[in-house]
Amino acid sequence: MNNTSALVVFSGGQDSTTCLFWAKKHFAKVHALSFLYGQKHQLEVEIAGSLAREAGVEWECMDVSFISRLSTGCSLTDTSLPIEEQKSDDQAYPTTFVPGRNLFFLSIAAVKARELGIHHLVTGVSQTDFSGYPDCRDSFIKSLNVTLNLAMDDQFVIHTPLMWIDKKQTWQMADELGVLDLIRHRTLTCYNGIPGDGCGHCPACRLRSEGLSQYLASRQEQ
Ligand code: ZN
Repeated sequence: MNNTSALVVFSGGQDSTTCLFWAKKHFAKVHALSFLYGQKHQLEVEIAGSLAREAGVEWECMDVSFISRLSTGCSLTDTSLPIEEQKSDDQAYPTTFVPGRNLFFLSIAAVKARELGIHHLVTGVSQTDFSGYPDCRDSFIKSLNVTLNLAMDDQFVIHTPLMWIDKKQTWQMADELGVLDLIRHRTLTCYNGIPGDGCGHCPACRLRSEGLSQYLASRQEQ
């Protein structure tokens, strides 16, 4: 894949930043695409832009904030809602689920990629993600890949380097790519909008720090 280009769906968080550097290793040229979707913490877009510049990839940010107006009850986009630690028993998904988010992101990314003459799309979704968001599952990605090819009579390939690995293994991948420190200190995963190690108590911070502790412990044992 070394003479081809890839487009990475890039939020500036741990997962997509790992994917950005994964793509840099596997593709000759990498573009990154970020989205303003009405998220509470727009700092993540600024962080994405500066990380992309630092990584030496072309970056673009697209305003798709209509997504947050389509549905209610999401704590990542509705400032009146607190971010809950866990989903309650009567909820199918946690309040951090943004319906359609990856469907829109990847569809828009595919149109953009087509415009740029790019066939490879990269996204940091993971089926092992604790939340079990339906649009992070492998079956959804494969289905959308077929749909995008039919929709534009093209041959896209959606790459999901993190699909079958957990957070500990994602940290390991970052380390192997030589960017563990950069990802640890500069990315923003925290639901409360604090970069690096974050607030420490939201679900995203807990997942991230548990994975990091496990990985650092395993590295020491070697
Ligand atoms: Zn946090």
